[in-house]
Amino acid sequence: MIQPGSKSLRKIAVVGRGTAGSLAAASVTCLHPDSDHELHHIYDSRIPVIGVGEGSWPSLVRQLQELTDLPHETVQQRLKGTRKYGVAFEGWGRRNRDFTHYFTPQQVSYAYHLSADLMGELLQESTRARHIDAKVLDIERVEGGAQVVFEDRAPERYDLVFDARGFPRELDPGRHIDISFIPTNTAVIRRCPPVIKDERYGPVLQHTYTRAVARPHGWVFVIPLTAHTSYGYIFNRDLSGLGEVEADFDDFLEADGMSEFEQRAVIPFPNFVHRRIYDGAVARIGNAAAFMEPLEATAIVSAQLQIGMVLHTRLNRSPEHLERDAPVVNRFLVSNMLCYGLFVGWHYSCGSRYDSGFWCHARDCAWPQHRKAADPELVDCAALGKFDEMIELMNRPVIDKADWSRMCAVPLTSYAQMSQGLGC
Ligand SMILES: Cc1cc2nc3c(=O)[nH]c(=O)nc-3n(C[C@H](O)[C@H](O)[C@H](O)COP(=O)(O)OP(=O)(O)OC[C@H]3O[C@@H](n4cnc5c(N)ncnc54)[C@H](O)[C@@H]3O)c2cc1C
Repeated sequence: MIQPGSKSLRKIAVVGRGTAGSLAAASVTCLHPDSDHELHHIYDSRIPVIGVGEGSWPSLVRQLQELTDLPHETVQQRLKGTRKYGVAFEGWGRRNRDFTHYFTPQQVSYAYHLSADLMGELLQESTRARHIDAKVLDIERVEGGAQVVFEDRAPERYDLVFDARGFPRELDPGRHIDISFIPTNTAVIRRCPPVIKDERYGPVLQHTYTRAVARPHGWVFVIPLTAHTSYGYIFNRDLSGLGEVEADFDDFLEADGMSEFEQRAVIPFPNFVHRRIYDGAVARIGNAAAFMEPLEATAIVSAQLQIGMVLHTRLNRSPEHLERDAPVVNRFLVSNMLCYGLFVGWHYSCGSRYDSGFWCHARDCAWPQHRKAADPELVDCAALGKFDEMIELMNRPVIDKADWSRMCAVPLTSYAQMSQGLGC
C-alpha cells in the first residue's frame, strides 16, 4: 500500500524508554514502510522508568504479536504473563455484592497481566533504532518539525518527536486538564510470591482477573503474574496518612494469606489530561499525555491509541493535510482520555462498603466535580456529552440494538456491567 506521508517522515525521535516509549519505538520500526528511515531512541539512563503497569486491555495481545512477530504463547511466557479476563471488584458500590467487569465477549476476550520490565525488553528486541543516552532539556517546534535540545549535545531536528518522558513535574491549568474528580493520588506497591505457577511446556491458560478490593482508605489491586503477585494500595495522601495506609495494607495481606512481601515503592501521581497531546510535530504519549489512577488499567491502552493515531495519520495522509489533521487528532485523543477519566471516576459515585472519610469524600465531594472539570467550554471537546449519553442509555428500560456498539472510550458492555455491579 502506498503511504503518502512516509516521504515526509524520514527522521523520527522517541524520547523515553518506559512502556510508552518502547511501544512507540517498536511501532515506528514495524509500521514505517521505508527501511531507510532514521529512528533515534533517546532516554536518560539516570532517570528510572516508573516500572509499574502490569494490567492491560485485549488489544495489547494482538499488538504485541504484530510488533514482535512471535506467537501469542511465546509473548505471554516472555512477559511472565497470565491471561486477564477482566477486573473482579470486591466491596464496591451500593449493592454490597462482589462482581466482575469482563472484557467482551465475556470469557473469550483476554488481555495480559505482564511484567512491565520484560515487556520493555521484548519491544526493544523488535526495534531498529540508534540509541542515545542523554538528558533532553526541551522539545520545541521548528519549521516543518521539532527540535530536541540536549544537555551536553548539539540539538537535533526531527520530522516527528514522540515525547514519552513520563509524568509532568507539576500541573499547569493552561496546559493540563485537572481530573481530580478521581479521588486518589498515591500508590504503595508491594510484591508477594506468585500464586499462579509457570507451566512447564506452554503459557498459563488459567483465567485470571485483576482484583480491585475496596478498603477504608481507598482500594487495593492484586495482579497475578507467574514471577510474583503485585499488590498496590491506592489512596489519597491528603486524606490518609501513609502509616495508617501501611497498617491497613498489612492487615489485608495477612487476611490474603501473604506472610511475606517486598516493599517496592510509594508513588505519588497526578490525574490529568494534557490539552495538547499532538500538534503535528510533537506527540505526547503515555504518562506525559494523560494519567489516571490504575483502576481500569487505562495507561498502556491509551499509549497504544496515541501512538497508533499519530503514526497512521502521519503515514497515510499527504503532508499538505498535516496542519488541518493535527487539531482533529488532538481533540479526538483529548476526548478519549477524558472519557476514560470519566469512566474511572464514575466507579466512585456509589461509594463502597466503607463509610470512611475517604469514601464519603470520593462520592460526595470529588465525583460531583466532574461536570465542572469536563465542561466542554473549558476542555474544547465533547467527552462529557458522550459520557452523559452512556449513562442515559443505562437508565433506559430497553437498549435499542442500534446502540449496542456505542462506546465512550470503553464499550457499552463495560458501562452496563459496572452500572449493574455498582448499583448506579
Ligand atoms: C501505581 C500505578 C499502577 C499502574 N498500573 C497500571 C496498569 O495496571 N496498567 C496500565 O496500563 N498502566 C498502569 N500504570 C501506568 C504506567 O505508569 C504506565 O502504563 C507506563 O509505565 C507508562 O510510563 P511511561 O513510559 O509513560 O513513563 P516512564 O515509565 O516514567 O518512562 C519515562 C522515560 O523517560 C525518560 N526520561 C524522562 N525524562 C527525561 C529527560 N529529560 N531526558 C531523557 N529521557 C528522559 C526516562 O529515562 C524513562 O525512560 C500504573 C501507574 C501507577 C502509578
